[in-house]
Amino acid sequence: MLIDTHCHLNLLEHFPDPASEVAHAQSMGVERLVVVGVDVETSRIAINLAERFEEVYAVVGVHPNHSAEVEPRWIQSVQSLTEHPKAVALGEVGLDYHWDFATRAQQYEALSTQLSLANSNALPVVFHCREAYADLLDILESALGLRSAPWLLHCFSGDTEDAKRAVAMDCYFGVDGPLTYKSAGELRELVKTLPRDRIVIETDAPYLTPVPHRGKPNRPGFVSYVNAMLASLWGTSSEQAAQQTTENALRFFDTLR
Ligand SMILES: [Zn+2]
Repeated sequence: MLIDTHCHLNLLEHFPDPASEVAHAQSMGVERLVVVGVDVETSRIAINLAERFEEVYAVVGVHPNHSAEVEPRWIQSVQSLTEHPKAVALGEVGLDYHWDFATRAQQYEALSTQLSLANSNALPVVFHCREAYADLLDILESALGLRSAPWLLHCFSGDTEDAKRAVAMDCYFGVDGPLTYKSAGELRELVKTLPRDRIVIETDAPYLTPVPHRGKPNRPGFVSYVNAMLASLWGTSSEQAAQQTTENALRFFDTLR
């Protein structure tokens, strides 16, 4: 069995028929789909999908690119969503210096508020980070003593130094479509050096479509291509890679059973 640990089935404009995506995923051997919120509304939709489909679990939180739009008392809304039995982590939260939808001050504020919520409620955290690894890792290192559940760097795109710091904090790493891109030789070499028991596979669907479907919208079922690439990097069978990454995902998302 495979687990897509990060997809956005909650973006209904991209997935008007989530039932067919769940069925397609199952036909590709993907039996758990973790749907990740980017703001309060999409977090609510993630929970709705989790209520509707046995295979779906939710991660709830506010993405840095949405941290400027939050309403008063948004953190209370996030907190109450985390209390749902199928909410398995807080996320995706973090820093994004690539886009400027929110100022850095707004991003830090949203990140630190949510990190405190996670730490005081023993919630695993899924981080989004783009062009901001040094700053995010500084923040995580200073919060490390308060951590009460594991942390995952989704779609890891840092360099070897960033990876070293994250490994030292015992972080999990999410790998996705870019691992299959021809130009991603450096990323593949880096992923080979990461601890195998800390890697999970994800699609970030509808984004980051893996080869051979690159150019089309991504689907949770396509996590099987990410798994196959990982297997070839590890020199194992796809089944062995699936067993390892599934075990890792079940350990990270403690309640995903
Ligand atoms: Zn995402």
